[in-house]
Amino acid sequence: MSKIKAVFALSGGLDSAVALAVTMETQNLKPEEVIAVTFYYGSKHAVWETRAAEKVRQYYSIAAWTNHLKIDLSAALEVASKVSSLGAMNPAAIPEGHYNDETMRSTVIPGRNLMFLSVLASVAEASLGGMRPEVPVKVVLGVHQGDHHIYPDCRPEFVRAAGEAVCESTDYSVGLYTPLLDMDKAAIVRAGIAFKVPFRHTRTCYKNQERSCGKCGSCVERLEAFAANGITDPILYEGQ
Ligand SMILES: [Zn+2]
Repeated sequence: MSKIKAVFALSGGLDSAVALAVTMETQNLKPEEVIAVTFYYGSKHAVWETRAAEKVRQYYSIAAWTNHLKIDLSAALEVASKVSSLGAMNPAAIPEGHYNDETMRSTVIPGRNLMFLSVLASVAEASLGGMRPEVPVKVVLGVHQGDHHIYPDCRPEFVRAAGEAVCESTDYSVGLYTPLLDMDKAAIVRAGIAFKVPFRHTRTCYKNQERSCGKCGSCVERLEAFAANGITDPILYEGQ
């Protein structure tokens, strides 16, 4: 019987770290019972995100060689990332301002979550080695309410439909789990505090620079969420 009980998307961002912590704690999962998957898809901030993912993985004692997969989807998402300001091959600047601003729409990478989810479901089903689990293996995405406005593949309608597709395509051996779906960013930080998430290891900024900019929509939303909880974000920002 496979010992893998959950397969996580681990981007190195705040949401994926909190989703990992919440799931491991509430489902009582050991590090050897999970697989973390970090996707490379040709974004401007890839190197910084990947470093953060590595630190979060280490913090949770998930084994590097056996339980952390780094999967390159840049070829599959090449067309999509070219039309997004997030894409490394797109010269457009990362927009600054509030996350819900219309300008943030330029950061959408078409089909990204659908692609991620397909790969996660495949990894989860493959981990079973043809055996049928007593409880479906969870594929875990950190999608949340704050993303719903701009990103259609983060909305509850998508999550419901995609969850059904995952169940059907794996004969109910794998299920989708989105513990942050009804939370906004402030609630995610609150959950992260409660579950002792190492915020200092996470990376949220969309820009290609070591220190987070504090001005892009992603940074602004993160800073507002920490302020709403009355605590200071432990990461360093430009100018600090
Ligand atoms: Zn930023």
